[in-house]
Amino acid sequence: MSCNVLVAGGAGYIGSHVCKMLYSKGYNVLVFDNFSHGYEFLVKYGKFILGDIGDRKQLDLVFKNYKIDVVMHFCAYIEVGESVQNPRKYYVNNLYNAINLFESMLDNGVDKIIFSSTAAVYGMPENVPIDEEEPKNPINPYGRTKWMIEQILSDYSNSHGLRYVAFRYFNAAGADPDGELGEAHEPETHLIPLVLDAAMGIRKSIKVFGTDYPTHDGTCIRDYIHVNDLASAHIKGIEYLMNGKKSNYFNLGNGKGFSVREIIDTVKRVTGKDFPVEEVERRPGDPAILIAKSEKAKKELGWEPEFGIDDIIKTAWKWHQKLRSIPKPQI
Ligand code: UDP
Repeated sequence: MSCNVLVAGGAGYIGSHVCKMLYSKGYNVLVFDNFSHGYEFLVKYGKFILGDIGDRKQLDLVFKNYKIDVVMHFCAYIEVGESVQNPRKYYVNNLYNAINLFESMLDNGVDKIIFSSTAAVYGMPENVPIDEEEPKNPINPYGRTKWMIEQILSDYSNSHGLRYVAFRYFNAAGADPDGELGEAHEPETHLIPLVLDAAMGIRKSIKVFGTDYPTHDGTCIRDYIHVNDLASAHIKGIEYLMNGKKSNYFNLGNGKGFSVREIIDTVKRVTGKDFPVEEVERRPGDPAILIAKSEKAKKELGWEPEFGIDDIIKTAWKWHQKLRSIPKPQI
């Protein structure tokens, strides 16, 4: 199946991997990104438009000039701590600008969207592994914006014919196995890239945030899912919508949990590097365990994740060494 896909936020981490997979499968890819968190060096596949989803006129022009079949939305801000300190920033971009995008789509007859949601919609879940019907109790503005958008999409789907697939990502990790693309957050707050910095000696140690959680080794457990497994789910999502199926939402995770200590040990084993590990206080707002039940995506989309934790660390390591050798732009 081939169709025209607008990838808003296609210069970011997950968006760039999705673009590569779309392109390799013969889809026509149009990347739309304002480079606020994306990078030119991650735009390798498809046509590119420098643009902002907050700009209604520009969106209208894009939808008038290109016959877009499906939109993908990867342009939300994602830092939990920042969302607590500066919620305005999150409500303006993640909520207001997303509605702006939906408005432009509806007025221009574009009726299919794949939306990047998050496990953060569940907050501190009572039941783990988490299925899609677990109560939604996000505990920070970031998670709230994502859950609000899911509810808006549900209303728009019922009343305005905007069909959507919302994917609730667990911990996106790993990199393109060819070494062309990968994670490049500034500042970096995620565990795996920070551990890799310690393995490279760029960071003198890795801090473990909390060792008194009710888990087997006292550290938090997360479900790490390879970015290419997320990308393959998006391809399934397009097929699903193009086949006329109803709006839906899916968890995307591996269904296996790894503790912070287990991630550190895996990095040491895979890279062959040793580095100091510091045990510090808990980071506020971290649930002890987040593991997905992804049976729904498997059953209804025919999706199956392929990458295990070693593949995640190996591909991330390959990319990370390359990333850290790219000189930072001089100002
Ligand atoms: N974490 C840690 N040290 C770090 C960064 C993260 O111990 O320097 C822990 C964090 O407390 C959480 C897990 O690693 O339990 C994953 O954190 P990350 O920020 O990567 O993803 P999150 O699960 O918060 O989305």
